[in-house]
Amino acid sequence: MNITDTMVGRDLQALRAAVAGQVFVPGQAGYDQARQGWNLAVDTRPAVVVAAGSAADVTQAVRYARAHGMRVAPQGTGHGAEPLEPLDGAMLLRTTRMRQVRIDPATRTARAEAGATWADVTVPAGRHGLAALAGSSPDVGVTGYTLGGGLGWLARRYGLAANSVTAAELVTPDGDLVRADAAHEPDLFWAVRGGGGVGVVTALEMRLYPVDQLYAGDLFFPIQRAAEVLRAWRDWTATVPDEVTSLAHLLRLPPAPELPEPVRGRAFAILEAACLADADAGAELIGPLRRLGPERDTFAMIPAPALGQLNMDPPQPVPSQGDGAFLAGFPAAAIDTLVALAGPDAGTPLASIEVRHLGGALARPAPGGGAQPSIDANYLIFAAGAAPAPDLAAAIRAQAHAVKHALAPWHAGYDYYNFEETPAPASAVLPPASYRRLQQIKAAYDPDQVIISAHPAWPARP
Ligand SMILES: Cc1cc2nc3c(=O)[nH]c(=O)nc-3n(C[C@H](O)[C@H](O)[C@H](O)COP(=O)(O)OP(=O)(O)OC[C@H]3O[C@@H](n4cnc5c(N)ncnc54)[C@H](O)[C@@H]3O)c2cc1C
Repeated sequence: MNITDTMVGRDLQALRAAVAGQVFVPGQAGYDQARQGWNLAVDTRPAVVVAAGSAADVTQAVRYARAHGMRVAPQGTGHGAEPLEPLDGAMLLRTTRMRQVRIDPATRTARAEAGATWADVTVPAGRHGLAALAGSSPDVGVTGYTLGGGLGWLARRYGLAANSVTAAELVTPDGDLVRADAAHEPDLFWAVRGGGGVGVVTALEMRLYPVDQLYAGDLFFPIQRAAEVLRAWRDWTATVPDEVTSLAHLLRLPPAPELPEPVRGRAFAILEAACLADADAGAELIGPLRRLGPERDTFAMIPAPALGQLNMDPPQPVPSQGDGAFLAGFPAAAIDTLVALAGPDAGTPLASIEVRHLGGALARPAPGGGAQPSIDANYLIFAAGAAPAPDLAAAIRAQAHAVKHALAPWHAGYDYYNFEETPAPASAVLPPASYRRLQQIKAAYDPDQVIISAHPAWPARP
């Protein structure tokens, strides 16, 4: 394939002249690098990649695409690329270069450009004793994460990141740069907050919270104790206040030399928690888990930005496959089912299976909230593995699906937007009423489906 095959008649020079950022087409040096996101297992071949440098670039790119009958897939880091539809004939609009962040300690807010990662926000916010509602990985993009809800270490106390968004700047599918907030463009503002959005976000503004230090860490148990540890953790989750957000993690670590010797190449059942508490109160909260006798205990007072290291997410791009589901409950039978598939005797290719505790603020409708105003589920499971070769990728995908299907008796009504890595419509990852409203908004703003979202919503018919 060469440039003239894919962009024939599309006046590529006009696009290059209109944007200050870079434009790549198949066959051109830099195209492969420009189209590659964090998840190395995803191999999309868009007709053109625009590496936008500014909101003005995004506007020009969307107008160009519209004028030339192309669809547009916005992307930041590419952490969430797995569920995307094929991008043949489409424009991949990357915001990776747009990473400016402004922290306003007086109003306790942050403004992050669309390509910012969580570390870009949490580190400068931390200098003011403030925390953002980041997730487990500091490299995940603020925008994609927030558009899909955003479940992080402070979620049971402060809710989904999406419901702390105070404004979004975005380019509509018609190519207009608008500001959406409680007073302007209320439908676009609603859709951005957990519904995947409608348009291309160029920046988000969000509330920050006064969290400087907190008590957090991991307890490592040999995976042979998985059933006992999961049961004890599940019982404990029924007792903790909203100030505690935790997860149970079955983790198989590779024999990588960069890992500390005591954990290298081993498999663990790990209990991880963040407690909005001082050291004494935190130790009291964690006491019942500590009394299980972990072989390694990392709990300590840490600065809020250090929460990004708690879950040991891979810091570099990996070829990843996974799947997840909201669970209404996690009773003993569900634990036994999970341990049979992923416990000590399972021989599974899945490197990581997390069960996150929900509830707290997540269960209460956020006042004036967006497309995910609350979560009607008590736990969230996510199973994943690294898949450097296609046959291994298929095995991991099959295993992740097997875990999800085996837990079907405990599934909640829909799945979590950000952890649904199989291609699925937005109807599968949103409350039904939210999906219907999203369809109406799509009909008004994007009837031609110009924007390609991780989980598509089809415009409502008139
Ligand atoms: C290691 C790892 C850890 C994770 N931890 C968590 C976690 O703790 N909590 C959680 O909730 N999720 C978590 N996730 C899931 C993550 O939130 C989703 O994968 C999310 O989509 C990533 O956003 P991104 O911008 O980094 O990815 P991208 O792949 O760049 O974007 C994902 C999607 O978001 C949309 N999007 C991105 N940018 C724009 C834009 N500018 N305008 C409009 N739409 C846009 C598009 O639909 C795009 O396909 C994790 C994922 C990984 C791989």
